[in-house]
Amino acid sequence: MTLAGKSVVIVGGGIGGLAAAVALRNHGAMVTLLEQAGAFREVGAGIQISPNGSRVWQALGLSPVGLRAQAVTLRNSSGAQVLQMGLPQNGPGFHLVHRADCVAALAAQAQGVAIRFNAQAVAVDAMAGRVTLSGGETLDADLVVGADGLHSVLRPVLNGAQPPFFTGQVAWRALIPGTPQDRAETQVFMGPGRHLVSYPLRGGTLRNIVAVEERKAWADEGWNHPDSPDNLRRAFAGFGGPVPGWLEQVDQVYLWGLFRHKVATRWHAGRAVLLGDAAHPTLPFMAQGANMALEDAFTLAHELDCAPDVPTGLAAYQAARRGRVLRAVEAANRNARNYHLRAPLAPLAHLALRLSQRFVPDAPLRQFGWIYDHDATKGGA
Ligand SMILES: Cc1cc2nc3c(=O)[nH]c(=O)nc-3n(C[C@H](O)[C@H](O)[C@H](O)COP(=O)(O)OP(=O)(O)OC[C@H]3O[C@@H](n4cnc5c(N)ncnc54)[C@H](O)[C@@H]3O)c2cc1C
Repeated sequence: MTLAGKSVVIVGGGIGGLAAAVALRNHGAMVTLLEQAGAFREVGAGIQISPNGSRVWQALGLSPVGLRAQAVTLRNSSGAQVLQMGLPQNGPGFHLVHRADCVAALAAQAQGVAIRFNAQAVAVDAMAGRVTLSGGETLDADLVVGADGLHSVLRPVLNGAQPPFFTGQVAWRALIPGTPQDRAETQVFMGPGRHLVSYPLRGGTLRNIVAVEERKAWADEGWNHPDSPDNLRRAFAGFGGPVPGWLEQVDQVYLWGLFRHKVATRWHAGRAVLLGDAAHPTLPFMAQGANMALEDAFTLAHELDCAPDVPTGLAAYQAARRGRVLRAVEAANRNARNYHLRAPLAPLAHLALRLSQRFVPDAPLRQFGWIYDHDATKGGA
């Protein structure tokens, strides 16, 4: 089926929605993108784009953004190295990117897409391909893409009402001034019930910090709110290495309750389809949410282009994506458990990691080859 001239309405202008807009436009579709905010706004500071996402990025016609990462280092809470994974310096690579730069690059690539801000979808009729906006206006399309994140309006239409659940984890996100000489490296500091991830951004002029703590409940009504930097410093007071120095520099911090749905059972019906966090929000512990959204976007456009009609294309898209996404979500859940081990398990697990790397140096990275080596741009999944 040719997508040329087909009308597509995308609800949501995050990384997933923008990537889908570019991918579908590249196949000739007439795309309208609806974003409820008054401008593209990416909350949180940094994002890691791994080679599977970088391949899609390049195939969308985009130049690499951010710092090319050289290594991922796991450390214990006192800062001692447990494991270091050197990252390949050829091929598509791992990139450490400011979210605003990621969104700006996608938006600049979306020429020809009709972008409407302050356009909040309040209802989707999947069978009719109709979106209703908060002001009452309706838009009809050959295809509606729900790329509207955790609180998607389309998801419950396809899967029934399933309120998001609190995962028992909160995350502080902060930016501090960086040191340009610092290595382009992601460092993960693992402690009992908590961990902290940090990496440089924008040529090292900034440093991104994401600090996660297990909590029994999330009482606040909002999903994120400004918090006192002292709460962050208190939660990670027992950590060593560079962590205390970094946290001392935090003067503004946001606290997030990490919420999830189960991966949606039904991704499509009639003329409507889900993509990105709307279909499969994940814990951030494999840094794959945005990468999966990029893969979704490319695969959706590809499968529609190859299929004889929209329903066949949408079915092929879900078949290509759901199993892979389930596996990535489960890997992130496992990392949450592994990062937060307590004594006596933590020292034993760290010793096992050190030994495994001594005998098979590339084993830690190779175990995730199924994520990073995947090439969604080659067709199929
Ligand atoms: C702490 C943390 C760190 C992370 N780090 C990484 C990482 O390193 N690498 C990675 O790959 N992923 C990471 N992720 C996950 C990643 O941020 C998300 O998976 C990704 O941003 C999802 O993109 P999306 O476009 O599907 O949804 P969103 O980013 O949620 O975008 C949805 C968009 O839709 C708009 N919208 C919502 N409802 C409506 C409506 N009704 N009408 C119109 N517009 C609407 C919203 O305003 C928003 O712009 C992280 C997440 C967290 C919480």
